[in-house]
Amino acid sequence: MPAEPPIELPGHLFQAYELLATAASAGTPLVPIAGGTDLMVAITGELREPPAAMLDLSRIDALRGIALEQGALVLGARTTYTEIRRSALVREHLPVLVECAATIGAAQIQNRATLGGNVANASPAGDTLPILLATDATVLVGGQRGEREVTASTFFTGYRQTALAPDELILQVRFPLPKGRQVRFRKVGTRRAQAISKVVMALAWRDVGGEGWSDVRLALGSVAPTPIRAAATEAVLEGAHPTPEVADHAAEALANELAPIEDVRSTADYRRTVSARVLHRLLREAGGW
Ligand SMILES: Cc1cc2nc3c(=O)[nH]c(=O)nc-3n(C[C@H](O)[C@H](O)[C@H](O)COP(=O)(O)OP(=O)(O)OC[C@H]3O[C@@H](n4cnc5c(N)ncnc54)[C@H](O)[C@@H]3O)c2cc1C
Repeated sequence: MPAEPPIELPGHLFQAYELLATAASAGTPLVPIAGGTDLMVAITGELREPPAAMLDLSRIDALRGIALEQGALVLGARTTYTEIRRSALVREHLPVLVECAATIGAAQIQNRATLGGNVANASPAGDTLPILLATDATVLVGGQRGEREVTASTFFTGYRQTALAPDELILQVRFPLPKGRQVRFRKVGTRRAQAISKVVMALAWRDVGGEGWSDVRLALGSVAPTPIRAAATEAVLEGAHPTPEVADHAAEALANELAPIEDVRSTADYRRTVSARVLHRLLREAGGW
């Protein structure tokens, strides 16, 4: 059998893969830097150990771009929040991501900060992450050993931990676009702008033929060490219509299901109560009552 032809990689991506692999095998991994809005906060060493060596992604064009591919909206890892806000494609096919991008930092942050950085950083308060979970998004990662697609539900493995290996980059985030799906997003912070989330929520469902909701996904950030799905509350909403009775029942189920973290930003009680209220409000809006 003839040997497989080598995959043609754009120059800068190929070099990046080589550098990452060499550094990882030497036991001194390179830390990729995209917008630097998370990394530069750590650079003084006061908050956590600063990176010893970084790999600048700013010239890797293969990580850019927004496109529709095979029924999915595909965003390159280096897509900034400003690009998301200005994208006609995102606005048309996943407007909730535009809404979310508008709540992240202020204009200076939105101009530099990237979707891939939010995902790789894996902060429980990362505002895009509940949207990834609620939409069954996948993360395309790649390195010298090849490319692989990781579901958002398996990507966040622990507090600020991901399925990404030290020799891999995030290349793209892919959002499937099933027919009839709706997605809502809500973020609660101390103020409307420049605030880290105390609770962030994304709710997705399909309503085809008026037979009740299907494929319900409820995802939350800032309430646990990782972004999470609320499976018991999803089960309450599956097959239901967003009536006042269903909203009461679902909000109660969510309050029972969550075991929120306590930290400097909020108490567990606050997070539980607010999560339930936010869900109730989203259901009221969906039901139009
Ligand atoms: C003032 C301020 C306000 C902020 N407000 C918000 C907010 O409201 N909501 C919110 O969610 N976040 C907020 N952030 C955090 C930050 O802006 C986001 O998490 C942002 O998306 C990070 O993207 P970046 O490109 O700057 O990441 P970087 O700082 O460049 O990188 C972050 C991490 O991701 C890794 N990384 C980056 N790109 C890749 C890649 N392609 N492949 C593999 N690893 C990669 C880096 O190695 C690093 O570990 C704020 C930050 C600041 C400073």
